[in-house]
Amino acid sequence: MSLAKQYFPLMNIGVERALELLAEASKSVGTETLPTGEAHGRVVAADIKATADVPPFDRSPYDGYALISADTANAPVTLRVIEEVAAGSVPNSSVVSGTAVKILTGAPIPFGADTVVKFEDTDFTAASVTIHKATPRGNLVPRGEDIRAGSLIARRGGFVTPAIAGNLAAQGIERIEVYKKARIGIISTGNELISSGSGAIRDTNRAALESAVKRIGAVPIFLGTASDERGAIEKLIDSASADMLISTGGMGKSDRDFTLASFENCGAILKIRNLDCRPGGTFAYLELERKGVNVLCLCLSGNPASAMTAFFAVVQPGIRKLCGQADWRNTRCKVILAEAYGKASPVARLLVGSIDISSGRVMFTCSERGKGSVSSFDGANALAIVPENSPPLEVGTELDAYLI
Ligand code: AMP
Ligand code: MG
Repeated sequence: MSLAKQYFPLMNIGVERALELLAEASKSVGTETLPTGEAHGRVVAADIKATADVPPFDRSPYDGYALISADTANAPVTLRVIEEVAAGSVPNSSVVSGTAVKILTGAPIPFGADTVVKFEDTDFTAASVTIHKATPRGNLVPRGEDIRAGSLIARRGGFVTPAIAGNLAAQGIERIEVYKKARIGIISTGNELISSGSGAIRDTNRAALESAVKRIGAVPIFLGTASDERGAIEKLIDSASADMLISTGGMGKSDRDFTLASFENCGAILKIRNLDCRPGGTFAYLELERKGVNVLCLCLSGNPASAMTAFFAVVQPGIRKLCGQADWRNTRCKVILAEAYGKASPVARLLVGSIDISSGRVMFTCSERGKGSVSSFDGANALAIVPENSPPLEVGTELDAYLI
């Protein structure tokens, strides 16, 4: 069934299905034009083709003598030196049989010459050069060896890299159109975050999410902390000017959990309620129409590890899509468990951990501590996927994983 024909909200769906839905709704933010020198790491907004060959002429690969290969067939041979060409200069003479042009690295090959012999392989005076060995044609850098006119030098949706910056410079292109950085509004909820009493806790989620959002090239905007009172979250949602909203906390069923109702009161339409995985299963995805723009709203659990798991599995790819990245999905790969995992998994599980490839195999070590623990993510670079109804897992078990 096509996504467009589905009835919403979808309940307890898998990460991959949630991603498809999110990606479909997530249109890239607008573009801006930057000097290429300031665009490193930004996302290219339009394909760019080379208009000129690089190098623009056949050029010398080293300091030496440009000559006609056939003249060296009966080497040793002595040729008359008729000119000297440095890089940046243009040869005036044509090489004819019996002559050579002294040439420096990068200088254009003179007309008539078809190869270059290095200084080190010659004996020379100002007026002549002796070549000791027969030299084949083609000791030169042909025009267009690096880039051919008409070839693609930057792809829409890719990052501006050092190679792309270099290729643009080689074409004389000084400015590049890139996607704007998506602005991600972050809302924390919970009286315990505001209280100064002994039940107070510090806001882990805000800091962790701000960092995670920055890491993938978007801009976090902290919108504030809402108390567990009716109307408090609505105020923050209404004040927001962002391309996406992420909230944490207040997603339970108690009479102090207002997050979902608050988004709906602001006009957001619920598309997904909960994912069928642990941790991170407490989740909602809504769409909020704002000034003709569809703002994606992601409501995560207050538990830091649950929030981070859902963020890396689903929200991070969604932000990358919003930022125009062609490769917006988390890369998937097979991993091998480096240690046994003792718990059974009646529901699909996302195991946080790190991958080590130094043995030549992709070994995964789980760093899960508990759903309140953001330190599980310290040094983590993967989420291994344990299928539902899995027994405890033995060392060496192969799993799929997302690279985060
Ligand atoms: P909730 O989802 O609001 O029921 O919160 C679940 C647990 O996460 C509770 O123990 C909260 O105190 C904790 N929590 C909620 N928000 C945050 C936050 N921003 N930083 C750290 N812990 C939080
Ligand atoms: Mg709460």
